[in-house]
Amino acid sequence: MVAAPGQAGLLLIISGPSGAGKSTIAHEIEKRLGGIFSVSVTTRAKTNKDVEGRDYHFVDRGEFERLKAAGEFLESAEVFGNMYGTPRTPVDQAVAAGRLMILEIDVQGGEQVKAKMPQALAVFILPPSEAELLRRLRDRGRDTEEVIQKRFAKAQAEVARAKAGKTYDRYVVNVDLEKAIAEVAEAIRARMGGG
Ligand code: 5GP
Repeated sequence: MVAAPGQAGLLLIISGPSGAGKSTIAHEIEKRLGGIFSVSVTTRAKTNKDVEGRDYHFVDRGEFERLKAAGEFLESAEVFGNMYGTPRTPVDQAVAAGRLMILEIDVQGGEQVKAKMPQALAVFILPPSEAELLRRLRDRGRDTEEVIQKRFAKAQAEVARAKAGKTYDRYVVNVDLEKAIAEVAEAIRARMGGG
């Protein structure tokens, strides 16, 4: 999606607990509305599902600190003991070119970006219920029960923090994936115009 000529683009922040479906929604928005996905820099270990440059730029702690000190990040935060940061330049370029730029980041990051760029649209994806969130975390079959419980606790804290703050413009409950995508797309169109 491209804004009308002469108009700035839109920065979309998508946050939500793991298991709420925010990644799927963010990638569908990217595909359907022609958005650009921001590729974060992280110190977390690369898994065999990750592709360097597509999912993340994987760096060591020293390189992360160097980039941070050089002012290369729009925001950065520690999540599950690893550092994550959003490179500033691609965001500035995309917004200046009238494009839709998508940041899938946690609440700490969302708060930092919204404080610097209040014109950003911040959307928080909620699971239908806590019981359903726990079921989805287990269903992924990706983690041990201990890790699942940690993610679940973090998810609850993140939802509480998001709801207590003023960062998020919209809360979308992901009961039905298509409806949730349509709700986010509608919020974007309302801000960027029909084109
Ligand atoms: P994962 O390592 O599972 O891909 O991501 C873990 C968490 O880090 C997710 O909640 C994700 O949204 C968040 N995250 C990913 N990239 C960034 C980033 O650049 N900044 C911030 N603040 N959070 C991020």
